[in-house]
Amino acid sequence: MNAPPGAIAPVPLFPLFADLRGRAVLVIGGGNVARRKAEALLESGAEVTVAARIIEPALRQWVELGRVHQREGEFQSAWLDGVWLVVAASRDRTLNRRVAEAASACGVFVNVVDDAEASSFHVPARIRRGRLQVAVSSGGAAPVLARRLRERLEAELDGSLGSLAELLARERVRVRGRFPRAGRRRRFLEHLLDGEVPRLLRIGDHDSARVAFERALDAGVPASQRGSVALVGAGPGDPGLLTLKALRALQEADMILHDRLIGPGILELARRDAERIGVGKHVGEDHDATQARIHALMLRHARAGMRVVRLQGGDPLVFGRAGEELEFLRAHDIPHEVIPGITAAVASAAAAHVPLTDRRYARSVTLMSPRGRTSLDDMALAAPGQTLAIYMGVGELESLSRSLVANGRNPDTPCVLVENASLPQQRKLAGTLVELPALAREHAARAPALLIVGEVAAQVERAERAERCRGEHSCVAHAA
Ligand code: SAH
Repeated sequence: MNAPPGAIAPVPLFPLFADLRGRAVLVIGGGNVARRKAEALLESGAEVTVAARIIEPALRQWVELGRVHQREGEFQSAWLDGVWLVVAASRDRTLNRRVAEAASACGVFVNVVDDAEASSFHVPARIRRGRLQVAVSSGGAAPVLARRLRERLEAELDGSLGSLAELLARERVRVRGRFPRAGRRRRFLEHLLDGEVPRLLRIGDHDSARVAFERALDAGVPASQRGSVALVGAGPGDPGLLTLKALRALQEADMILHDRLIGPGILELARRDAERIGVGKHVGEDHDATQARIHALMLRHARAGMRVVRLQGGDPLVFGRAGEELEFLRAHDIPHEVIPGITAAVASAAAAHVPLTDRRYARSVTLMSPRGRTSLDDMALAAPGQTLAIYMGVGELESLSRSLVANGRNPDTPCVLVENASLPQQRKLAGTLVELPALAREHAARAPALLIVGEVAAQVERAERAERCRGEHSCVAHAA
């Protein structure tokens, strides 16, 4: 059974680039549109037959030259025998539809010009640079948008990309011979693309580009590309808050060891065939065993020549295990780097529109967590004029609040709890140090959430209260 046409459905089209050399393609219609379609098909080496009684002059000439065949008479299904593709480009919509039905019935792909619903394949907008092509499709839903995108890409993609693709195609067999293993070969090619060759082609110096290519082929893959680990901060969740370096590391990674909290939006940006392993720690799990497993995975894969990305939420050096991981990597002499990320305290401050320091209210900020501490009975933390950014504290707000007050922090100190900072489900709860635990309970606040305690939060508290008062029920309960 053929799938019914109707490609406008919200199911994504499957993109293909077809090799049409020597394959029969039938174009219905003989006007300008049919000619343009025939021309593109001829360029791809197809055996084109146009079916129309009257055909426009250029097409006629191709028929006379034997480049294109012609059929006359009433359309019949038998014309589809041995045909790979049909393009229905006649002005007669009923005829086009009839052709589409006949083609679908016998399993031949059909495109009906300007009729996405009747088409079983679409012809995308495309950008060509020699044999390199970028195709853009909206699945028939928004052709204008697709064309816009094509115009942008036209402007952005350098003309020399065609020469680059040509050079790589020409040298493919030699590169394969020099690097028989796929991983090494890919790393060589990536190194090549980051180097001199593309730049020389861009300025049109083909001779020097060839020399540079030979040099690169001789030199092979540099040591720094021989397997490494990058400790990468993924930021608070919004992919827009990744650094460019983090994005690049993700796109070059062979393997990604990621925390549980890393959202799919970020992992989607990684290289498609990078292996992904979730190494998040769950509550109640043996953390040392998990950590040992992470170390073993890093070691094994880096030694096998892979580029490993150890992806952690926020910044890897803030309440992560990157300290231990760095020690391990140093001890085993594995090349490594650290790519910082936006930590939850910074992202939450941005979400709540509060500063972490402000010369009027707070000269310092402490990044802290109640976990693993015997108590918060630390007078220093309770002193006014400083901000506390508390990680992993949402389950312990009661005791946090109590011990800060017990140590002398003003119970009216403003606080803001930011849940899922930067993500669509972000929430903010503002209140004073004594109010906040009840407020969090009432609103069922959950991890991941970050608590900002300090005079800096006064602004948001006022704004949130005003908002609540404009809203409904909670106004009375939380008004001062
Ligand atoms: N390395 C991370 C912190 C890991 S500890 C960083 O630099 O941000 C995990 C804690 O971080 C969570 O319990 C929570 O307190 C905080 N956190 C992580 N992502 C968050 C987010 N999107 N919004 C609010 N807090 C977050």
